[in-house]
Amino acid sequence: MTLEDFEKSLAESHEQKESEGSKDKDRSRHHRHRHHHRHRSSSRSRETRHGRDRHHEDSDRHRQKRSRRDDNGEDEESRHKRRHRHDSSHDRDRPKTEADPVASNSNESHLKRDSWMEAPSSIDIDYVQRPERRLQEQPQAKMLESDLTTKIHQREINDHLRDLRDGKVAEEIETTTAQHDVNYTFGDTGSQWRMTKLKAVYREAKNSGRKVDEVAIERFGDLRSFDDAREEEVELDRRDTYGESYVGKIKPSGELFQERKLEQGSRRSSRQEDKDIEPNVQEQGKSMEIEPPTGTTQLLDATALNRLRAKMMKAKLKGSAEATELEEQYNAAAALMANRKEGDVVVLGVMENRMLAGSSRGEVKPVENRRGRERGQVQENDDMSIEDMLREERRSRGQAGGEGMRLAERIAKDAKFDNDLEYMDDNAAKLAKRVQKSELNLKNTAISEFHKMNRVLDNCPLCHHEDTSTPPVAPVVSLATRTYLTLPTEPEISDGSSTIVPIQHRTNLLECDDDEWEEIRNFMKSLTRMYHDQGRDVIFYENAAHPDRKRHASLEVVPLPYSLGETSPAFFKEAILSADSEWTQHRKLIDTLAKSRQGLGKLAFRRTLVKEMPYFHVWFELDGGLGHVVEDSRRWPRGDLFAREILGGMLDLEPDVIKRQGKWSRSGDRRVEPFRKRWRNFHIQICTMTRPKALLLGNIDHAGKTWEALSNVAELVTTQAANRTEFIQECKAGKLDGVVVAYRTFGSFGITGQFDEELVSVLPKSMLFLAHCGAGYDQVDVHACSQRNPPIRVSNVPTAVDDATADVNMFLIIGALRNFNAGMHALREGKWRGVPAPRLGHDPEGKVLGILGMGGIGRNLKRKAEAFGMKVIYHNRRKLSEALAAGAEYVSFDELLATSDVISLNLPLNAHTRHIIGKPEFEKMKDDVVVVNTARGAVIDEAALVDALDSGKVYSAGLDVFEEEPKIHPGLTRNPNVLLVPHMGTWSVETQTSMEEWAIANVRQAVEQGTLKSIVPEQVDL
Ligand SMILES: [Zn+2]
Repeated sequence: MTLEDFEKSLAESHEQKESEGSKDKDRSRHHRHRHHHRHRSSSRSRETRHGRDRHHEDSDRHRQKRSRRDDNGEDEESRHKRRHRHDSSHDRDRPKTEADPVASNSNESHLKRDSWMEAPSSIDIDYVQRPERRLQEQPQAKMLESDLTTKIHQREINDHLRDLRDGKVAEEIETTTAQHDVNYTFGDTGSQWRMTKLKAVYREAKNSGRKVDEVAIERFGDLRSFDDAREEEVELDRRDTYGESYVGKIKPSGELFQERKLEQGSRRSSRQEDKDIEPNVQEQGKSMEIEPPTGTTQLLDATALNRLRAKMMKAKLKGSAEATELEEQYNAAAALMANRKEGDVVVLGVMENRMLAGSSRGEVKPVENRRGRERGQVQENDDMSIEDMLREERRSRGQAGGEGMRLAERIAKDAKFDNDLEYMDDNAAKLAKRVQKSELNLKNTAISEFHKMNRVLDNCPLCHHEDTSTPPVAPVVSLATRTYLTLPTEPEISDGSSTIVPIQHRTNLLECDDDEWEEIRNFMKSLTRMYHDQGRDVIFYENAAHPDRKRHASLEVVPLPYSLGETSPAFFKEAILSADSEWTQHRKLIDTLAKSRQGLGKLAFRRTLVKEMPYFHVWFELDGGLGHVVEDSRRWPRGDLFAREILGGMLDLEPDVIKRQGKWSRSGDRRVEPFRKRWRNFHIQICTMTRPKALLLGNIDHAGKTWEALSNVAELVTTQAANRTEFIQECKAGKLDGVVVAYRTFGSFGITGQFDEELVSVLPKSMLFLAHCGAGYDQVDVHACSQRNPPIRVSNVPTAVDDATADVNMFLIIGALRNFNAGMHALREGKWRGVPAPRLGHDPEGKVLGILGMGGIGRNLKRKAEAFGMKVIYHNRRKLSEALAAGAEYVSFDELLATSDVISLNLPLNAHTRHIIGKPEFEKMKDDVVVVNTARGAVIDEAALVDALDSGKVYSAGLDVFEEEPKIHPGLTRNPNVLLVPHMGTWSVETQTSMEEWAIANVRQAVEQGTLKSIVPEQVDL
């Protein structure tokens, strides 16, 4: 069935060629338009050839038809454009000739790929082109026209003469002076790469057996530059020999070039006589006057047919005269074959599950668990018939990577291609084996590909393994929504390098979708800024030269000194030109930077390279650089060696550093923390660019508008959970993915419970900040937050609460000193002051207030207490500066206990401060001491306090906080000397509002700048 298509299209192309061959005038016009009438019958195309109007009509109709029928319109369209561009650039680069059946086929192939019904011929692939070197040996129209000027024999061995002549006749060249100005001096900064280039010429000439001059022209563009470099080589050699002080020449004198010209001049004159002895070369594309092929009426089996086909293709590739004959033989045989309607030969196309997964045809079913969804995994669909698969195969066959390319490639790469036409006969079966598959194999291949992919995925160091909840082996330095930043394996080529990786396992970056690319570009932007801040340039490269290994795609980011950054394009160009020199059907260099400037912009890379072919691409700027299609993955340097050698050479690294390509390990990477520190401020730009989510835990009562206003920088989300179990469930289900910062209130404890290690471990990896709305954050396990990878940074509200808390503190001091509670209590019971009346209280004036924990609240309290005439002493872990202490005396803990009339607790609760005041401490206090606490209940051992109150050691207490809120120790409620307030320290509209405003400001700063306004002290150094 496939062969039928194949042969049909071959027949068409043959007719086409025939008709084209017969016209000898008006070539350029037809050359431009030839793709319009390719698929017509020959009579049709003869008609259309005669009228321009017909042409346009035709092409218009065709366009309409295509847009109507093609459900893949845009892709198809852009591919068309790409090919067209590709083709026209070839037209520019090389002699115009109609005698190029392969190229002309390729030109039109896409027009026929309207549907699977009209599958293209397998040689309709524009990857199949004869190398340019060969083309130069073709008769050239330009040469025929220029008989009156210089004639260079087409068998001229010194190919460079042709190039020398390019645009000038030889006489002109002779008269140009050998001396000329170059914009460099010997031994300057560009010298290193000119010498590299020169050595590469010698090396390649030696390896390939080609003439040095020939290679030199390829590399240097012309021989003069090459000779200049040779002069420089001599000069540098002398400087080396005679020492620094020796300077012979500063710029090239042109003497070597002069020498060459003299030599050529003498040779040329002896050769001009040969010009009439030009052999009669059969022009390609013309039908040949040969006898109709015989013996094609016999039935050939599939193998024989394949052999014939391969032979024919090879002849076409070579531009051999036999091509036409073979084609006819093949057509006839194939037609017969098709008539037998043998269904056992099918052709395997691209059967990667990933490609199929995108289709709606049901070859495979998507795996519907989370892992499957995330990775785009598929499983075999047993319901799918072979017919369906075939249809799919046909659909994809004409695309790059299809079977046509495979066969062409195999033939082309075969070592004996050049010199042994008969070789094909013996090897046709072998070479075609990939092309032919039984129905069974077709199905099995899809499945084995699927298994292979799964193996790769299971061992992938860059994948997050959801099923076992194992993070990637590579360190995650910075996580965005669809991509993340990691560090390259050691040893690094350049200090502080990094690597951008899509979270989903892609085999190359061209597989990434728009969203992923958006993030990749954001990373590229931010990294560029970061390295520039460090005074360095940066380049990016992707090595996708080994698609068969299905490795996780990554973009390597390499910072370079500015001086090297400028010359890096030259280094890469050089290296790419030296690579893959054996057989080239593609242009070696794909200048995506130029293409981006020509209008493709940021799409230059994605539109210019194709994901089905192995490639290497380096970015010198955000939008482009140089690309190269790798002809033979097996010959490409293993792993990342290609780029490492170029960069290592630029940076003068030792070979063992260049050659060693380490692996990631889980053992903890010492580079991560320093990198994160430098990266921190840039990370958030990534998040901002991808519109992060901000999660609200609890309620915002006063600053609602401020919260809403955050929606200009973040997506505001809430939790649906009513309790901790539900919340954990929600996190695990990925419903909060993309949350970068969470805002939490004291009251959200009811939903999430303690913000402990368990909770932190299930929070989305994207979450980097927690803005707690409160001064004390004992509900949050800061240590667990710091330990998580990546860490969660926590902020509190340190100063907004100071005033209100200190006010309550003062109220409690006065209330407790003056013993107001007993009287107020009696009054409500209708007993006036009560019987007996309460003890007389004490005035604050002149009393010593010992503040334990002289932070924001403590210092605020100090000012207020001094207004009441109290003398303030304090104890902290560290003594405050004079300015902060503002006259308060620093004393030891024990001294504070022993000398204070009133002890106020204003320190945060943590493991060290829990029960900091207990039985032994009470014993060290003065008799009739007053104890006040607005910090956290648990800093006092409540039971010990009750005992001390009962024993009369403590005169009275004023408490706003309790050890097990809202439960109150009964010993406190029954004691009339204790003034109790149900945690109302910040219970005021003004303070509640400013606390919320403050916490929201932390959220905003986190989103906008990647930092917190008031990070908790424990994390200041994180
Ligand atoms: Zn992976």
